[in-house]
Amino acid sequence: MIDASGHILFHPSPGRIGTPASPNPVVQQLMAGQSGQQKVTNTEGRQFLAGYSYVPEVGWGVVSQSPVSNVEDNVRALLRTMGLYSLPLLVIVLLFVLWVSAKLSEPLNKLAHLASRLNKNEALYSQIPNINHWNYEANELYTTITEAFNAMRKRAEELSFEAQTDPLTGLTNRRSMESILRLWFENPMNFSIVMLDLDHFKAVNDKHGHQMGDEVLKFTARVMQSEKREHDFCCRYGGEEFTILLPDTTSEEAFLLAERIRTQIEILENPIGEKITISLGIASYPDSAQDLHTLFKYADQSLYEAKENGRNQTVLYSALKKIPLNQSSQK
Ligand code: GH3
Ligand code: MG
Ligand code: MG
Repeated sequence: MIDASGHILFHPSPGRIGTPASPNPVVQQLMAGQSGQQKVTNTEGRQFLAGYSYVPEVGWGVVSQSPVSNVEDNVRALLRTMGLYSLPLLVIVLLFVLWVSAKLSEPLNKLAHLASRLNKNEALYSQIPNINHWNYEANELYTTITEAFNAMRKRAEELSFEAQTDPLTGLTNRRSMESILRLWFENPMNFSIVMLDLDHFKAVNDKHGHQMGDEVLKFTARVMQSEKREHDFCCRYGGEEFTILLPDTTSEEAFLLAERIRTQIEILENPIGEKITISLGIASYPDSAQDLHTLFKYADQSLYEAKENGRNQTVLYSALKKIPLNQSSQK
């Protein structure tokens, strides 16, 4: 407490009572009749925070001051306590935020993974992950990508089917037939091929028209499909020529199937209402030939022989008949 002349009236340290304090900037403010607060540095260089109030009735002033370090220590202690108390909460909030962001990004991750596999063929046939998510945007994105993915898969399947199938008859086309045979050669096994050609088909076209001719081709394909066994492939080789690929089948077994088809074509009701017949030739791997080219050549030769012998019959390729008589008698 300071009197009007700047002397200390009261001080927590009794020794300072009565001493002058007018050099102190706060006391100077009081003597000028001011009240307020400010940071001051005392004569010993220590910093204080001071609050002072002028009492006009007596011309005294009251100063309350506290070392800055005291206040800072308190604030630091307070912050430390606050930090300690709020740390668990902060950790919980942080974990919650991490959990929510992981949950939010989970469907997007799945979709990103799915999208990254789209350019690979295997993705077309793999299962699309099911994403039923509470996040509206994620669900919308999932629906859109799934629809696009399904449309792509459907188109790919259609294209693949179209690339392998003869459009008129629905049978395996020649390109696909060659791929199948390549596979069978890569993983060697016994098999037979039947070559089949409609007899006097040109006359059918000439008499009934090309469109009816097409109907006869479709009819032939239907009979072949209904007679073939589960693992056989019926193929359209060219115009009115067909082949049947018979895995794990001897030429004798192939002959029985060929004869069944020939008989059915002959006796079943057909689109032109006139008798239709076919000729067939058979060759087998590896008995008849050891390579694809020769195998087809022999099947074709047998078919040609069936035509030569009067058509409407099946001829089995036999190596013996190709050997000149004088050679075979020497053996
Ligand atoms: P062969 O008994 O000697 O086999 O006599 P062919 O008349 O059947 O034989 P040829 O090879 O002379 O005639 C085949 C005919 O098949 C000629 C062609 O116009 C016809 N043809 C080929 N492809 C098709 C087709 O996709 N549709 C129709 N309608 N006819 C076809
Ligand atoms: Mg022909
Ligand atoms: Mg013909």
